[in-house]
Amino acid sequence: MKKTMRRLLCLVLCAAMALSAVACGSAPSSSASSAAGVFTPGTYSSTQTGMHELTVTVTVDANAITDIQVEHQETEGVGAPIAESLPAQIMELQGLGIDAVAGATLTSNAILEGVTDCLKQAGASDETIAAWQAKSPEVVKEEDAEYTTDVLVIGAGGAGMAAAVTANQAGKNVIVVEKTGAMGGNTILSGGAMNAVDDGSEVAAEHEDSVALHIQQTYEGGDEQGDLELVTILCEQAWDGVEWLKDLGMEFTGVVFTVTGGLWPRAQQPADPEGTGFFKTYQNYLDNNEGITMLYNTTANELLVDENGAVTGVKCTGATGNTVTVTATNGVVLATGGFARNVEMRVAANEETKLWPTLDESIPSTNASGITGDGIVMAEAVGANLIQMGNIQLLPLGDPETGSLSGNIEHSVESRIFVNEQGERFVNEGGRRDEMTLALFEQTNTTMFIIMDSDTYPTGDELNNFGETINDLVAAGRAYKADTLEELAEQIGVPADALVATVEEYNRYCKGGDLEGQTDSFGRTLFSDVEGVNDGINDGPFYAAERVPTVHHTMGGVQIDAECHVINTDGEIIPGLFAAGEVTGGIHGTNRLGGNALTDTVVFGRIAGTSASEYTR
Ligand code: ADP
Repeated sequence: MKKTMRRLLCLVLCAAMALSAVACGSAPSSSASSAAGVFTPGTYSSTQTGMHELTVTVTVDANAITDIQVEHQETEGVGAPIAESLPAQIMELQGLGIDAVAGATLTSNAILEGVTDCLKQAGASDETIAAWQAKSPEVVKEEDAEYTTDVLVIGAGGAGMAAAVTANQAGKNVIVVEKTGAMGGNTILSGGAMNAVDDGSEVAAEHEDSVALHIQQTYEGGDEQGDLELVTILCEQAWDGVEWLKDLGMEFTGVVFTVTGGLWPRAQQPADPEGTGFFKTYQNYLDNNEGITMLYNTTANELLVDENGAVTGVKCTGATGNTVTVTATNGVVLATGGFARNVEMRVAANEETKLWPTLDESIPSTNASGITGDGIVMAEAVGANLIQMGNIQLLPLGDPETGSLSGNIEHSVESRIFVNEQGERFVNEGGRRDEMTLALFEQTNTTMFIIMDSDTYPTGDELNNFGETINDLVAAGRAYKADTLEELAEQIGVPADALVATVEEYNRYCKGGDLEGQTDSFGRTLFSDVEGVNDGINDGPFYAAERVPTVHHTMGGVQIDAECHVINTDGEIIPGLFAAGEVTGGIHGTNRLGGNALTDTVVFGRIAGTSASEYTR
């Protein structure tokens, strides 16, 4: 029923798009154009989905593109720069054979598809489109290059940038090599929540929280498979990490909330959406301090090892296919993230634990495309011990088309429920990420809807954690809005009576009422809504968004000790090699708490930066 509706919606949209193309095109008759050139001159528009919805408007004369405009809300520092630069590249080339930019493939592909669609609307034949797609920019291979620095960092995500800034604060020159054209990695795509407890503070007291509880929940939430020493460091140094970021100029709203799978209200909320606040802060540091050199579009392939077995640098492929070699006089920090976008690797790892029914290409990922486990492979080649590779986290919150977290309407655990296609709840929505996602795999079409009311979005113009307004998501068909639950049920194709009954029962649990003193049938305990009023889902308009399982975080990886030394298969330190962030394994156990990943990047990134600065050969 729902699928039919979505198809219908698509047809309506397509029809509207076709109409709008005609409406805005100042096209003369097609017979006139075919004699003169390959396009019907005019202006054409196409709406596509990148990270968010974007609209490409292309103006053509008979044979060339004369203008491209892109209206977008792509993520600052990820898709946004591409949305600015790619149109100019297409214009200059007068061709479409441009590779998607690593790290921003969704945006790149959406723009390329949008322009292609506009050219088709302008009457381009299949042959013309094929010729445009075959035309690629000429790449001139640059000379091979060699650099020497104090500290080398591989990967410019959250952990890598925390390490780089820390090493620079310790007086070191730093080179960061980064595969993509920008800093950010997966960290910038996250919701930005960072778990940290200011032990003994009023806020901690208000939430009955403590560092000890954070340690306990992190350790037990990963089935006690994490390394307790590393878990303790993570939680004890989290608040220091927040203070360090604040000292660097990062702004937090002061709101403390429960992120999905976070189990407790201890997530600090950055003032900027997604993970952009972290990278604004790091970029600001770079702009105001000397000594950190970023080598973008540079892919690390191989760690260099001296005759004593110490890691001394890295061999990379530069943007034009040239070889770039970087040698460090102090340490090398590996911060290349996990392997969620490497299907072969994640399928093999899942074989170890069989935590998931499947992790093949049918399951999308929240991750950036460059997150393919490169650092894990490189470290293994120099003897690193890989641990708990089969511990892979999925979220029940992926966009049905792309698997990304964008379009996720929830703000905090307390204010929403999940329902299946029967309109029924099926899991404790305040529970562990693995339990929620495994339950979702059991539901019809492996799909669910987040249901919430207007408590979080009083006007609809408020932003979600990904910088989107719910009104825009509704307009784009990525979320649903209705004055009554019955209408909402009709829109999303679930039985209205079932949805109403589900919400009524849930509301009784929220209010206590006849069920006071009991947890609900799924064991949920987190009920109060964002305003702290236990009034459940009852203030229209009501909202829904469809979500599916998506591969999110790989908890296995390179083994480290408390100083972020990489450990080899004999249990010894590999001299000169340090690692931090998702490339490491064994901290989070089977299941990472929501909000602990950013804490991991900051805490262990700083430790790795310090250790690498102190190391000398
Ligand atoms: P973490 O959260 O651990 O910091 P991220 O996913 O945020 O991890 O960042 C990892 C970064 O490492 C990304 O920017 C990614 O593009 C980069 N990266 C991955 N593989 C390589 C590689 N082979 N060479 C250079 N950079 C890499």
